[in-house]
Amino acid sequence: MTQSDVVICGGAVIGSAIAWNLGQIAPKLTVTIIERDPSFQHSSTALSASGIRQQFSDPLNVAIGQFGVGFIKEAPARWGLNLNLHEQGYLYLSNTDSGAQVLRENHAVQHGEGADVTLLSPDELKARFPHLNTDDLTLASLGLSGEGWFDSVGLMQGYQANSNATRLNDKVVGLTMQSGKVAAVQLAAGGEIPCGTFINAAGPYAAEISKMAGIALPVEPRKRTNFTFDCAVPPEGSLPLMIDPSGVWVRPEGQHFLCGCSPEHDPVVGHDDFEPRFQEFEEIIWPALAARSPAFEAIKMQAMWAGHYAYNVLDQNAVTGAHPEIGNFYFANGFSGHGLQQAPAIGRGVAELVALGSYKTLDLSKLGYDRILRGDPLLEKCVI
Ligand SMILES: Cc1cc2nc3c(=O)[nH]c(=O)nc-3n(C[C@H](O)[C@H](O)[C@H](O)COP(=O)(O)OP(=O)(O)OC[C@H]3O[C@@H](n4cnc5c(N)ncnc54)[C@H](O)[C@@H]3O)c2cc1C
Repeated sequence: MTQSDVVICGGAVIGSAIAWNLGQIAPKLTVTIIERDPSFQHSSTALSASGIRQQFSDPLNVAIGQFGVGFIKEAPARWGLNLNLHEQGYLYLSNTDSGAQVLRENHAVQHGEGADVTLLSPDELKARFPHLNTDDLTLASLGLSGEGWFDSVGLMQGYQANSNATRLNDKVVGLTMQSGKVAAVQLAAGGEIPCGTFINAAGPYAAEISKMAGIALPVEPRKRTNFTFDCAVPPEGSLPLMIDPSGVWVRPEGQHFLCGCSPEHDPVVGHDDFEPRFQEFEEIIWPALAARSPAFEAIKMQAMWAGHYAYNVLDQNAVTGAHPEIGNFYFANGFSGHGLQQAPAIGRGVAELVALGSYKTLDLSKLGYDRILRGDPLLEKCVI
């Protein structure tokens, strides 16, 4: 089959973002995306909660979020596409002194990066959101701009519609290695595509793809269930995405609400296991929401679905850049619960690294695979 300068395995938001950026930076490169399921029905991208925030504890993640929101805001001018950004903020709540201290430390980092985030005492919180029970709280952190939720599939489609990359509906089943490099990509339909550079953007399948090159990548499919519900008497006003100290989160979704939680028991699941965990709503989410606000006592679940995080077991952070030895094998993996919002910055960065030889816009070096080899986690305290 025809040789391609760059072959990307996985054509959802991350693969598509990299391809689009390669087209912008180096239009002469030939780029081929191989996607096993062009319906994207089971991709993390299509099943995500579509949130974007700047409230992280690591300054690079803050900057990545800022880049993402800027990119989303420019979509109408760039692509004639409105990605429906609801800039209603994230609201983190703490109910212990140590939790409050973490919020203060995070706020200092975020403020240092220019993020528009404010700390609120329980009384200030109550004044802004009177429906909330604040009696047990010690502090809150609210994003005033640059945070919220948007059209996740729209972002992916924007990248796809505006890219000249060749898209192949096929499955990568093996990598042909020669002289310590990826020489060609083997396809389920038969044949292989010789390539100069190979990029792993396979989401929850990232470990299997890495293994084809003999690389161990600690990324596992972990299930997350999202629920929508109706509220008999919804709280008034513009509501943010709220993260309760219990780990339960909730946000408006049109006339409804969308919610989920980080389950305590979080095993690796099969790639085909998309059975929602209804008991999370009954046993964890509803009790926590009802305790936080009387408005959430009378609610009725409307829909539920499960998707898979590409969960980085080491530190729940992205892994990007080239393998230190297999120099033409690039990672764009392990995004856990925040890959959608990171797609604009990661797409840009990986494309710069491939086409220009170094990161230019944001230095993503600390997300490199070498930390996996060292077993040296990049701690991020704000993971959902
Ligand atoms: C329930 C849930 C809620 C989330 N909420 C948020 C959120 O609020 N904000 C946020 O930023 N992120 C969120 N995320 C995470 C975010 O959705 C992901 O990090 C992001 O979509 C990752 O995109 P991706 O392209 O890497 O992976 P995916 O979207 O999973 O795409 C990977 C693609 O690779 C393809 N593929 C795999 N193996 C092969 C192969 N062998 N050959 C060819 N193709 C292959 C797959 O078919 C798939 O289309 C959430 C995720 C879930 C599951």
